[in-house]
This record gives sequence, structure tokens and C-alpha cells, in this order.
Amino acid sequence: MENHSKVRFENSYNSLPETFFKRVKPEKMPNVGLFLVNQKLSEKLNLDYSWLIKRDGIQFLSGQNLIKDSKPIALAYAGHQFGSFVPQLGDGRAILLGEVKDKKGNLKDIHLKGSGKTPFSRSGDGRATLGPVLREYIISEYMNSINIPTTRSLAAITTGEKVIREKILPGAILVRTASSHIRVGTFQYFAARQMTKEIKILSDYIIKRNFQSSLSSKNIYESFLMEIIKSQADLISKWMSVGFIHGVMNTDNTCLSGETIDYGPCAFMDAFDYNKVFSSIDYQGRYSYKNQPNVMLWNLTRFAETLLPLLDKNIDKSIKKAEEMLGEFATLYESSWISNMGRKLGIDTPKITDKNLIEEFLNLMQSNELDFNNSFYYLSFLVGNDKNEIETSSNNQKILSTIQSSDWYIKWKTRLNINKKNSQKILKILLINNPSIVPRNHIVEKVLNDAINENKKDTLNDFLNALNEPYKIRIFDDPYTKPPLPNEEVNQTFCGT
Ligand code: AMP
Ligand code: MG
Repeated sequence: MENHSKVRFENSYNSLPETFFKRVKPEKMPNVGLFLVNQKLSEKLNLDYSWLIKRDGIQFLSGQNLIKDSKPIALAYAGHQFGSFVPQLGDGRAILLGEVKDKKGNLKDIHLKGSGKTPFSRSGDGRATLGPVLREYIISEYMNSINIPTTRSLAAITTGEKVIREKILPGAILVRTASSHIRVGTFQYFAARQMTKEIKILSDYIIKRNFQSSLSSKNIYESFLMEIIKSQADLISKWMSVGFIHGVMNTDNTCLSGETIDYGPCAFMDAFDYNKVFSSIDYQGRYSYKNQPNVMLWNLTRFAETLLPLLDKNIDKSIKKAEEMLGEFATLYESSWISNMGRKLGIDTPKITDKNLIEEFLNLMQSNELDFNNSFYYLSFLVGNDKNEIETSSNNQKILSTIQSSDWYIKWKTRLNINKKNSQKILKILLINNPSIVPRNHIVEKVLNDAINENKKDTLNDFLNALNEPYKIRIFDDPYTKPPLPNEEVNQTFCGT
């Protein structure tokens, strides 16, 4: 295929030693078709949108025709899955097609998920199905729209294959982008094999690509570890502040670029519950909402272990340094969490002393089973508004009356010191920190069902457009903002591989 002038591939990961990956070609699929394509993202990546949506572009996006500089590879990695170490996982159904420079000059991986078997497929078929591909597209793009670091979705492609799962399902490929696909598990792959030289090569690669600020530090690897700890503490506090539950925080699903990756059984909570779990295979609640910060610290500890040979020549000193840095996670996480949550309560500059106010609000939600997102969003209706002025329905009445009749409400108003002069400012803080919409699980499932089984793609496009305006002011009866009725609740999600 002719090398289109708009696609300039780089292959920086390819320049690493052969032990880092396997060269592999995407499999031929019977009949590829574009299901969704992300125009805005394609522009950011300097890709020619009008070309992408034509035959040649689709052939390129689906890996059916490789452009001149494309040297596709499947990446090697290991990982702790639900606490058990698997020394070799790797891209079993994914391929790194190449890297492109975005408009800001940053290198982004173009990565295909569901493009066929690789040497890492083990017993898997190398396929993905349309439902989970669209689910990842919807949720990752929403995360981006509310400024949570994430891999992005460039396109969803149908393959024309029938894929065998519990049912026969349509095959699909997700074209996703990331600032790099290096995971905690990538480091573990080499650490498990005592390949210290490769740990250094991998560290130098990712520092140059994603953590350049560490290059000027006295101890580059110490600074690198600290940057990783900071960015992951920040990421998890952001998840917590929107009620996001990742569902499968294995070390191979912790991306070191600080981006949320691998949207399998993830979901957003409706009624607040600290112990909420969605994943159908998470019997112990290991990856429940409240456990996410602890799990991340556990994953970071596994990461720090792999870096020990680089931190100091003396292993005891290395361990001490790593322990000290990991010891900072709790404080970093807490201050980021207070800042995010405090602003969701309308506080301009949240302080450590606001911790109780935040926790009391969460406890109020927990004991009254209040909807997480709406409870925060409705606070904006309580600033400068008297109860009678608020349009109510049975759905929101419970939230408003529970909040207004609580002790917490008085404490909140006292903390904000709401008056005529500052109410507009407070309102603004509330509205820019509380999205009016989240991709609720029952709506995601309905939209997917309509798009896949009923051939109604309009519902999907309408939902994607709404999610793309997360801070738009929405009235109470906007259907996307409504929690599920008891018979609509979808409390389990599946890895959907
Ligand atoms: P995940 O649960 O998607 O993070 O995947 C965990 C591991 O299983 C990774 O090594 C994947 O590449 C691999 N995997 C998941 N599904 C498949 C599949 N259908 N075929 C081959 N490998 C798979
Ligand atoms: Mg994964």
C-alpha cells in the first residue's frame, strides 16, 4: 500500500532489544467496516480524516494493509492478576501498529485490540467483540472529556467475523491511542527473569518518552519512581471523585504513563456504596470502589521492587529509598482527593481540615443510598435557591430533602459562607467540578444493545454527543441523568474478552 503522506509512523519501541516484543502481523479479517471514528482525535493526531474514513483509511486502521513504515509488534509483559503472578502475559490480542506525533509533538501509540492471534495469545483467540469495544470507546472518551488521563479511542471497526463466546458475537477491533503502553507488568516481565540491563533500558526509554522532567534530577531513577507514584495517586483520586470503578486493577492494567487503561468490567456507580464491585469475577471485592487507592499502592510497590537495582548500588539503601517514596503515596493521594472532592463541594481552596466535611457527605449518601453523581450535581441547585423554587420530582426529591434536612447541610453552608456576593462564584466552582452526566451502566448497556442488535446507531451517537458535553447544565428530567429504576439496574459487568 502506498504510504499516505499524512501518516508518518515512528517505531521507537521497535528500536529496543528483541526480548521486548514479538514481530507480528495483524490477521486478515473477512470484511472490515468502520463502525465509529473519532474525528476530533484524528485531527489531534495529524491524521487525514477524509482519508481515514475511505477504503484505504479503513484498511490502514484495521491493520489489513500496512503502510510503508509500519513494523507491527506485540509487547511482552507479565502481571499480577487478582494477586497471583503470571510471568508471561503480553499482547495476546493486541498489536502496536506504530507511533505518530500528535499536534503537540508527543508520540502516541496506535494500537489495535482484537486484531488476531500473537505469540502471547496462550489459549485465547486473539479476538475482541463489538460490545466491549464500544464500551471502551464510550467510557474512555468520556474520561477524556472530564479531564481524567486515559488511553483514547480512535475507531471501532467491525471485522465481519463471528466470534465464539458464551454466545456468537460480532467481531471488532478497537483502535486506541496511548502515550505509551508500558505497564507495571512490563517491568515485572524483566524483573522476574532477573534481566536488570533490560530494566534499565526500559526505564531510560519511558523516562525519555513520558518523564523528561526526571532527566535533570541528581538521581534520575529516584525521581522517575516518585513521578510515577505522584501521577498514579492523582489518577486514583480522580477516579474516586467521579465514582469510577475500574474493576480489574491487575498490575498489567496499570499503565505507567498515568493513563487509565483497559476498560473491561469498569463502571460508574449509581447509588453510592463504598464496597461497590461490578466485575463478575471479583468475588472477594479486591477491586471495590474503596479499595482502589490501596490496590494502587500495592501495584506501585510491585513496580518499585523491579526498580530496586537502579535506585542504589547498595540493595538495603535501595529498599529504604523505595519504602520512603511509597510511604508518601497516602499523603499525596489524600491531598489530591481533598482537592478534587472539596472543589466538588464548591470550596475554592480545599484544605486538610475539609476532610470531615467530605467524608460526612459520602456517609450521608451511603446511609441513604443516594445517587453519587446527582447528589454532587444537585448541590448547585442548593446554592442561592430556596427549596420551593427547585423543580422537583420523586427521583430528585429524595436527594434534595435528605441533604437539606441533614446536619451536614448546615456545616456545608457554614463552610461556604454563602451570601449574595459569593454565591455566583461558588455556583461556578460547583458547575465546573461536577459533571451533570456520567455513562450510567444501564444506559451504556441499552445503547450497546440498540447499536449492535437493533441496528440503531443513532442512540449511540446521541449518547456520545451528550457525554462529550459533561458540564452542560441539565435539567432534572434529562433521561441520561436518571439513575436506573430497580428493574433497570445493571450490577455486573463482564471482562467481555
Ligand atoms: P485483559 O484482561 O484484557 O487485561 O487481558 C489479560 C491478558 O489476556 C492479556 O495478556 C491479554 O492480551 C490476554 N487476552 C485477553 N483476551 C484474549 C483473547 N481473546 N485472545 C488472546 N489473548 C487474550
Ligand atoms: Mg489488560
